[in-house]
Amino acid sequence: MEPHIVDRTRNAGWIEVVCGSMFSGKTEELIRRLRRARIARQETIAFKPALDTRYSDDEVVSHDETALPTVPVESAASMIRQADGADVVGIDEAQFFGNDLVEACQTLAARGVRVVVAGLDQDYKGQPFEPIPQLMAIAEHVTKLHAICVQCGAPANHSQRIVPGDERVLLGATEAYEPRCRDCFQPGEVPESTAPAPAAPVTSSASPEGGE
Ligand SMILES: [Zn+2]
Repeated sequence: MEPHIVDRTRNAGWIEVVCGSMFSGKTEELIRRLRRARIARQETIAFKPALDTRYSDDEVVSHDETALPTVPVESAASMIRQADGADVVGIDEAQFFGNDLVEACQTLAARGVRVVVAGLDQDYKGQPFEPIPQLMAIAEHVTKLHAICVQCGAPANHSQRIVPGDERVLLGATEAYEPRCRDCFQPGEVPESTAPAPAAPVTSSASPEGGE
């Protein structure tokens, strides 16, 4: 569960992780939590990796285009510097930061900051995507979201790569991935098009010329 209150009488922060597959609404949930903190006049700041330039340079934008002003950062260390004075720190696309993020989140939480981290928990092969598993272990609160499997409608826990390539992360989410359940997920494969293939012409041996 999402904790609702920052206890200002104690200098104790905590870590919340919002994880799941692509299209599970992680960024929307991050934005919702930060908005609510902002309404309570808590000082909030949101970061994203500088390489996540999918939609906008200075906003976190979920796939439904709900935007939140945000700061692109190159590293977890530079995030700590820029988070000075914040009550609540949001981090989107956290899987891009690497393992330094774990220490950075610990540092912020020890400083009394509420840290909300959103990221992919598995890559397109279905492997745990560090540093999210490490963060899930040390977090006080973990929320695992699901998308809906495009093949069968079950809750989807996996991100199916649907274009070729062996990079661990492809930007351009909507074209490169689709959400799938455990049954429908084909780890690391680019599935054949789901459209019916044109019937292969049956090549009968050519009849001899004029043979009717
Ligand atoms: Zn399915």
